[in-house]
Amino acid sequence: MRFRELAEAYARLEATPKRLEMRRILVELIRPIRPPDLARVLYLSQGMLRPEYEGVELGVADSLARRAVATATGTDEGEVARRTKASGDLGGTTAELLEARSRAEAAHPLTVATVYEELTTIARAKGEGSQDEKVRALVDLLDRASPLEGKFLVRFVLGTLRVGVREMTILDALAEAFADGSKAARARIEAAFNLSSDLGLVAGALVEHGLDGLDAIGLEVGRPIRPMLAEREPTLAAVLERMGGTAALEYKYDGLRVQAHVGKDGTVRLFSRRLEEISAQFPELVADLPRAIRHRPAIVEGECVPVDADTGEIQPFQLVSKRRGRTHDLDRVRAEIPVCLFLFDVLMASGRPTYSEPFPERRTLLGSLLTPNDHVALAEQRTVSSVEEATAFLDEAIAAGGEGVMAKSVREGSAYRAGARGYWWIKYKRDYTVGLSDSIDGVVVGAFHGRGRRAGRYGAFLLAVYNPKRDRFESFSKVGSGFDDARLAEMPKRLAKYETDAPPPEVESGIVPDRWMRPGLVLEVRGAELTVSPVHRAELGAIRPGAGLALRFPRFTGRFRDDKGPTEATTSQELLEMYRHQVRQESAPDPESPDETT
Ligand code: AMP
Repeated sequence: MRFRELAEAYARLEATPKRLEMRRILVELIRPIRPPDLARVLYLSQGMLRPEYEGVELGVADSLARRAVATATGTDEGEVARRTKASGDLGGTTAELLEARSRAEAAHPLTVATVYEELTTIARAKGEGSQDEKVRALVDLLDRASPLEGKFLVRFVLGTLRVGVREMTILDALAEAFADGSKAARARIEAAFNLSSDLGLVAGALVEHGLDGLDAIGLEVGRPIRPMLAEREPTLAAVLERMGGTAALEYKYDGLRVQAHVGKDGTVRLFSRRLEEISAQFPELVADLPRAIRHRPAIVEGECVPVDADTGEIQPFQLVSKRRGRTHDLDRVRAEIPVCLFLFDVLMASGRPTYSEPFPERRTLLGSLLTPNDHVALAEQRTVSSVEEATAFLDEAIAAGGEGVMAKSVREGSAYRAGARGYWWIKYKRDYTVGLSDSIDGVVVGAFHGRGRRAGRYGAFLLAVYNPKRDRFESFSKVGSGFDDARLAEMPKRLAKYETDAPPPEVESGIVPDRWMRPGLVLEVRGAELTVSPVHRAELGAIRPGAGLALRFPRFTGRFRDDKGPTEATTSQELLEMYRHQVRQESAPDPESPDETT
């Protein structure tokens, strides 16, 4: 196929804002094309060389493209820059300059195959001398290009093709060009794309073997599946109703969604929700996933959240976002902000696709194939059938650092729906975030053995507030964050005189620590928010039956309140006041763009 035909189609696409018209142009363009040109045209039209998940980048900066245009057209680089200034479109300038070059049509007109090959060479050029190599390849192409071809070539390498061909338009066009254009055909094509994330592959199968040929496109390790997405409902009652009265609720972890592909040999590739490969950012997951999952090859999905290295407690999401896109200093960041991947689904196990099985079966399978470790764990889950049960689980999830719950349908038909948003998954978040400005003085009533760097000593502590009306110490927090080495080393000495084997009668807690402490030592802590939790006992039942007040994301300020005795610590009534006076703010808008989901 001549490249000219493609460039002409781009010019027509660029000229119309109408989606239907665009589809018509696209259908006309692709109908006569056969593999392997078909895949090339589809990738190129989206401004890519390979499916997005492969992350192939051309690596052509403005200055480099300018240099190539200047060389190819025999123009001074400054002149090229000057001409481009007003429009900002180097592609347009290229067309002008090529026009002025006025010469006979090239002896060997450009084909899609040559252009694709040369562009691939440009993308592959790495390291020393690669800039020159890229310029040379681009000059070669421009030498043979017509003005219109030159315009789109330059725009392509700069990533500014802007012909507006999106995945969904291409799927429409494929259904019309190579099937009967019906909704059913479109759905089958989209389903194949959702499983493979590769339009070139889908189009090839469709053209060669028809709609039935799409069935042969299955899962492949290393090729990400487009993620299943959740709907939302405003209340837990509505969630349950949607799900037919019973649902599996899971903690909704606030982190990064990760699709992990574990090869037979233990090679791991991690993909983000947008299907970018992010393996390099999480070496601990790459190292620990093969130990956790032995039924390989496997594809599992989960949410990756920062955890406290010493206690395993979930930390605020902002910490993990610091690791995104990071390539240097990774070791240090990794030690400071370790992550844990909480797995919630399995799409392939022992090489067998499992995505079409009902969710309860997938979850059981996930549980049975997983050997958890410090960096890979199973998402907390509970099946509930009443609003009360759901609310208790939500409280637990929030107190443990989650941002809400994910409800999953346990009904027949609850297959993994790649790339689709529906009521098989429903998210329910707290509709506000609250800020806690005050610190709290908590009494240590228990201690937990440390892990990781804190193995062999205490790693976290159970804290209580004092309830003067009942003369009891009621737990509200387990805190492990905020202790530096010196303070941590001090703790056993400070606590020695309070240690006791039996739970002290004046202490009330739903959590059993490794070591009980009689109330004595007072610590100052801060947290993100007060919430309620079924495992804590502060002002039990005041906000919700069976739940006490709890501090979310607790952190020791470093200050021992030696000036205070245990009964002078913050009281449970004060805590309740703080809960009621928390500043309620509307939460930020959902970052998810509708674009991603259409
Ligand atoms: P949202 O981003 O608000 O639409 O919520 C959906 C996201 O929640 C998913 O894409 C996951 O990244 C995340 N998530 C956290 N916990 C879970 C869970 N247990 N099951 C499914 N998704 C979860």
